[in-house]
Amino acid sequence: ISDAEQVVLDEIEKKDIDFLRLQFTDILGTVKNVSVPARQAEKAFTEGIYFDGSSIEGFVRIQESDMRLVPDPETFAMLPWRNREDGCSARMICDVYDTSSGEPFDGDPRYVLKRALERAHDMGYTVNAAPEPEFFLFEEDEDGRATTETNDAGGYFDLAPKDLASDVRRDIVYGLEEMGFEVEASHHEVAEGQHEINFTYDDALSTADNVATFRTVVRAIAAEHGYHATFMPKPIARIAGSGMHTHLSLFTEDGGNAFHDDSDEYDLSGTARSFLAGVLEHAPAITAVANPTVNSYKRLVPGYEAPVYVAWSDRNRSSLIRKPAARVPAASRIELRSPDPSCNPYLALAAMIQAGLDGIENDLECPDPIRENIYEFDEQTREAYGIDTLPSNLGDAIDALEDDDVVYDALGDHVAPKFVEAKRQEFEEYLVDVSQWELDRYLETF
Ligand code: GLN
Ligand code: MG
Ligand code: MG
Ligand code: MG
Repeated sequence: ISDAEQVVLDEIEKKDIDFLRLQFTDILGTVKNVSVPARQAEKAFTEGIYFDGSSIEGFVRIQESDMRLVPDPETFAMLPWRNREDGCSARMICDVYDTSSGEPFDGDPRYVLKRALERAHDMGYTVNAAPEPEFFLFEEDEDGRATTETNDAGGYFDLAPKDLASDVRRDIVYGLEEMGFEVEASHHEVAEGQHEINFTYDDALSTADNVATFRTVVRAIAAEHGYHATFMPKPIARIAGSGMHTHLSLFTEDGGNAFHDDSDEYDLSGTARSFLAGVLEHAPAITAVANPTVNSYKRLVPGYEAPVYVAWSDRNRSSLIRKPAARVPAASRIELRSPDPSCNPYLALAAMIQAGLDGIENDLECPDPIRENIYEFDEQTREAYGIDTLPSNLGDAIDALEDDDVVYDALGDHVAPKFVEAKRQEFEEYLVDVSQWELDRYLETF
C-alpha cells in the first residue's frame, strides 16, 4: 500500500463511505463503472478488481475477456449527488490491466493517453491541457425523456432573470467543486439553453479524467433539477453547436513553459510553432477522434464560431487554432477549436499531443497566421493561402484517420482498428437512414 493509497483508505474510514465506484471508459468515451463495497478498497489497490471485458465496447474478444481494474488513488473523489442520509459513495478512476500478461491493457483509452505522455516525457516535456466544454440544458417531457425545448432565452453572458437555468448551473459548479474541480468561470453561451463551464488547466491525464467526470456530474445534477444536459455537438440546426476548445502547452522539467518566447511576435517559441505545425498537418485525422459522431460535422460549418479551415491565428475565431493572448509566460498556449464534447477525451488528447510531438520531432515549419475572417474567403483566396478544409463528414474523417500513420498509431494497434470499425458502421447506418429533412422536402413534392 502506497502513501497515496493509505490516504484514500483513511478517507473512506473518516467519511464513512459505503460504496466505491471504480470507473474507466470504453473506446467511445462512455464512462463505465463497477460498484464495490468500500471495504474492498484495499484489495482493489493490491490485487485489482476483476471484471468481464467482453461486454465493454471495443475492449476484447469474447474468448479473452478477463480484465483487471486497478484504481488510481489520485482520482479519489466523493460523489456529491450520492451523499445523502442513505450512505456515501466515492469514486476512483482505474487503469485496466490484461490478466493474462499482467501488463496495462492496450485497449484502455487512459493507457493510450499515458503512452502519448510518455513520449512527451522522453522528449523532456510534460503536457498541460484545459478544455472548455459547452453543453445544452433541455427540458424533460412528462415521461422524463429529453426534449430539445429550452426554458431560457438567455444569450452570451446574460444574467438572470432571462437565464433561468443559472440555478442549475450554480449547483453543477458546487458539485464540481465538491469533487475537487477548480472552476474558473461559468457562463451562458451564445445559443438558447447553452452553457459553458471552465475549469483550471492540469496535466493532460488529469484533464482527460476531469472531462469524463465533468460530463457525469453535469448530467447527474441537471437530472436532479429535471433537466437533460446534453453534450451532443449540434442538437439544434442553424444555431450554435457545442464545442470543447482545448488549450495545450508543453512544460519542461524545470517548470518553464516550452511554448513561450518573449522575443517572438506572437510569444510562441520554436517548439510551440513546430507543435502547432504538427497539429495542422494531422488535423483531418485528429478530427475523426475529436469529432467522432455523425452529428459533429453539423457543427463544423461556417458561421457559428466552429472551425472549418485548417489555419491558425492570434486573433480570429474562424481558424482551427488560436493563440490566445497570455498575461504571463506560463499562460502561453495554443487553443485547438475543433474538438467537441462527444469525443473520448483520452483518445482526443492522445491524438492532438502525438500530432504536435511529431511536428517537433520532424521540425515542421509553421505557416503564417491568417488574421482575416476565413469564413468570408472564397475558394481561390483559400487556395492562394494554402488553406485546407477539415473533413466534412464522419466518413471522410475516418478515411483521413486510416491514411495518417501518426494519428492511427497514436491510438495503437488495439484501439485504432476497433475505433475505425465502429465509426464506419455508425456512418453507414446514418447514410441509409431517411431523415425528417428529406421527408419534409420530398414527400409531398414527388
Ligand atoms: N460554440 C462554439 C463552438 O462550437 C464556440 C463559441 C465560443 O466559445 N466562442 O465551438
Ligand atoms: Mg470559452
Ligand atoms: Mg465557448
Ligand atoms: Mg475558447
